Amino acid sequence: MPHRSTVAMEWRLKKGRYAMLGSECKACRELYFPARLLCRKCRSETTERGFSGKGKIVTYTTISTAPAGFEEYAPYGVALIKLDEGPTVAGQIVNGEEMSIGKSVVPVFRRLNQDGEAGVIHYGTKFEVV
Ligand SMILES: [Zn+2]
Repeated sequence: MPHRSTVAMEWRLKKGRYAMLGSECKACRELYFPARLLCRKCRSETTERGFSGKGKIVTYTTISTAPAGFEEYAPYGVALIKLDEGPTVAGQIVNGEEMSIGKSVVPVFRRLNQDGEAGVIHYGTKFEVV
């Protein structure tokens, strides 16, 4: 049921407004971002866990040819970020000219798009070099 999952997602985003939501294994405490339902190590169930979104750049690249629909944003930076909590995540960097390995990043929340009359606003996490 697509509609129901959309509502659940919006609720999750509200609940997790100041942190990125990942998951944590109930058994071995392994952390996942993005969230996984089952632990990759021990197959136990996981529970929701907020992440600070803060981390350091492991590697990075600049995308100069953007996918269709995103041409106006190119060139833009993309980095692999090791979060303070442990997991590594790929994310867009809003100030790509500042990227270098080992630099610290913090999450920024930008409106990605808005669904017409329904007024549902989708937010996505990007990162900023600090
Ligand atoms: Zn586990």
